[in-house]
Amino acid sequence: MAVRRRSSRDIRSESRLDVLHALLSLGESNRNELARTTGLSPATVATVVSELIAEGLVEEAGLALGGTGRPTTTLRINRARGRIAGIDVAETYVSTHLFDAALAQVSSADVALDEHLTSPEYVVEGIIRSLKAATDEVGIELDSLLGVGVALPGLVQGKAGVTAVLAPHHSWSNIELLELLRERIAVPLVVENPLKAIATAELWLGRVRGASSMVTVNLGTGVGAGIVLEGRVLRGATNSAGEWGHSLLVYEGRGCRCGRRGCVEAYVGAPGIQETLREVDPHHPLVVTDSQRDFIAALAAAMREQTPDVAVRETLDRTARYLGSALADLVAIINPELVLLTGWTAWALGDHLLPGTAAQLTAEAPEGAAADLTLGVSTVRGNSVAIGMATLAFERFLGDVGLVTTRASIAL
Ligand SMILES: [Zn+2]
Repeated sequence: MAVRRRSSRDIRSESRLDVLHALLSLGESNRNELARTTGLSPATVATVVSELIAEGLVEEAGLALGGTGRPTTTLRINRARGRIAGIDVAETYVSTHLFDAALAQVSSADVALDEHLTSPEYVVEGIIRSLKAATDEVGIELDSLLGVGVALPGLVQGKAGVTAVLAPHHSWSNIELLELLRERIAVPLVVENPLKAIATAELWLGRVRGASSMVTVNLGTGVGAGIVLEGRVLRGATNSAGEWGHSLLVYEGRGCRCGRRGCVEAYVGAPGIQETLREVDPHHPLVVTDSQRDFIAALAAAMREQTPDVAVRETLDRTARYLGSALADLVAIINPELVLLTGWTAWALGDHLLPGTAAQLTAEAPEGAAADLTLGVSTVRGNSVAIGMATLAFERFLGDVGLVTTRASIAL
């Protein structure tokens, strides 16, 4: 088995991340338990804990009697170390979520965006208004934040740095937006694309830290994949990896909003699922549901009814087969150990989609590629884009204070 060669700095960085992750999932712990949980030696844990205490990230919470009757010191993350903001910028809204240093949410604020107004100034104004509302709610100044992470759809980063911010519905195609952001936000700032944010959220909070290859599949209006290979989020040459929603499912199939025909998204994105229902039963009342979220919620409600809605069932069966087929391609290329569905469509319909999706995936993936695969619904709830951006900003903070070698996210 090939093992990635790591420098001693990487190893120290990984040990610190291991201890932090263990403390995040255990809440309170002690040095012995941390050694057992992380598999690190007691000596390494002792060193790492004192480094984290020195940086104010971990605090001693008191003494507890251990199994041997000897008192042991209880440790926990020092929540008061500071606050971090994760911001999800979408076509129609900006959503800011504020977290403490233990990554527990302390406040949030949403600002609606008019999708017809697309100037960088307008979008940045929305970001700042939402951020201000979230910090005001807990009575802190923007300047006191440890960091801010902003997810921007269509963020493209070439060799020369960030060269474009392209959103399907927007005409942003320059770096003006990033410059405006930098002018308005004086604390360390990280920008990333939403798919990378979702994958990072999973690595931090999804109890899959040990997974070396994993795909987080986001199902909403749009569809995409956050890909983790060898424990790292896959970015690609221009930070555009994971646009699996625009890979081909049906040759010359349905039109996709990207301009191509037959994309995965045109079948398993929320509007695609509605199109499938229209094909199954053109007169079904849900065909004309205006809001995509209402439509998906109505499908889930119909599945809970005593009397089965035959058209809805057929729609979900077809959707599961589309999804299974599309995932079989992804699995053939990536060979992940874990595929997790996330996003509001997955949370609403995941349980209904999983059996059919798994069956189709197993039937179509090449021999061996899906042998050890686990398919499930992500346990990270809430705005996973904002959560992921906060963890990226937190990683940057840990990098700035010299505790970890940061993954290559885009720091401004
Ligand atoms: Zn497409």
